[in-house]
Amino acid sequence: MDLLDTLTAKGLRGETPTREEALAVLATTDDELLDVVAAAGRVRRRWFGRRVKLNYLVNLKSGLCPEDCSYCSQRLGSKAEILKYTWLKPGQAAEAAKAGVSGGAKRVCLVASGRGPTDRDIDRVTDTVAAIKEADPAVEICACLGLLSDNQAERLKAAGVDAYNHNLNTSEGTYGDIATTHTYADRVDTVQKAHGAGLSACSGLIAGMGESDEDLVDVVFALRELGSDSVPVNFLIPFEGTPLAKEWNLSPQRCLRILAMVRFVNPDTEVRIAGGREVHLRSMQPLGLHLANSIFLGDYLTSEGQAGQTDLDMIADAGFEVEGVGESTLPRHRADIAAAATGGCGSGAAAGAGGGCGTAAAPGEGESADAAVGGGCGTGGGCGPCGGHAHAAPAAASVGAADAKADAKADDRAADEVRTDLVRVRRRGAGTELAPNA
Ligand code: SF4
Repeated sequence: MDLLDTLTAKGLRGETPTREEALAVLATTDDELLDVVAAAGRVRRRWFGRRVKLNYLVNLKSGLCPEDCSYCSQRLGSKAEILKYTWLKPGQAAEAAKAGVSGGAKRVCLVASGRGPTDRDIDRVTDTVAAIKEADPAVEICACLGLLSDNQAERLKAAGVDAYNHNLNTSEGTYGDIATTHTYADRVDTVQKAHGAGLSACSGLIAGMGESDEDLVDVVFALRELGSDSVPVNFLIPFEGTPLAKEWNLSPQRCLRILAMVRFVNPDTEVRIAGGREVHLRSMQPLGLHLANSIFLGDYLTSEGQAGQTDLDMIADAGFEVEGVGESTLPRHRADIAAAATGGCGSGAAAGAGGGCGTAAAPGEGESADAAVGGGCGTGGGCGPCGGHAHAAPAAASVGAADAKADAKADDRAADEVRTDLVRVRRRGAGTELAPNA
């Protein structure tokens, strides 16, 4: 298939495809799907080997958000019966983080609901980072606290935070359909503030809210241009009690096409399968590892994932390995640029020990990961649903025929159905008396 040969060649050189080529990936048929996965898998191995980076979410403050992001169970007016609690104490957060690190996570993502942090909230996060790093100085920390005001990113950087997550979620053109209390430009501004302060930029998207293929391609190219070092790909978790509860627009095949497209557009960037992995990829999760080089371990912010041990078993069974603390996540050319931008460590050194979060990838398929390729910048952790997008416009308008068929099937099934069998509200870990899943 000429398209895949072209995309593979570009990806191995670290080049970005054209917009038309990215759209063509989304329009491939189910008959072509394994070829698509194989082609994008070669690009993934070229830059990231067979390593899988594990990240662990700690929801510092849950629910009761004044923002109206329609995809989010913590939104204003949400009827979702999620855990609601205010800020965890530093010791409580450190305990939760320890569980994730013990389970194999090298990055801890500290997330708080809300429009953005107050300066007092930055103090709280500073104390929490100190508690986590006192127990384990090597752990990478990503903060996800919403829109940043002036000087807050600098304060987080000084506190030892390595990365900041703030997702663009969807295209600029449709952003107003998924949230009205802030704008796409607000989100871009926060990613730029974080990056400008030397924090690794983590910014991604949410698929499955009814967006068109063009919307998906728009946001993925925007993320590339923003210099996001980590791109979390969330698949909408349609929570009962939110406006998108019945938006079941994704099939496992559709998710794999989206991941492949994101990989081709971001060949040397960390691509993370984020929220919705179990809900939408289901038994096809292992194929997703051939495309993404990063996942969350265990549970999400307000929903439960599969058991942490099941995540580890899946990685091993699929022939991948958990990325170690001493291994760099990003390929050397990108890690060095990230280090220069953030003042952290470059690719050669271990990413831990308080350094930055770049990382040199092990070469894949006998190829050198050091091959000269263009620049890149910062890096980022990633969080689940604090940044995503949703738009309930008809989904299938521009998708390929096979994909449209699959989506129509999903729509039919979900039209009058809330899938409580697939969406499990988190009832353990942070904010509860029960042990975390890690
Ligand atoms: S995504 Fe973040 S800002 Fe939006 S409603 Fe949810 S917690 Fe609030």
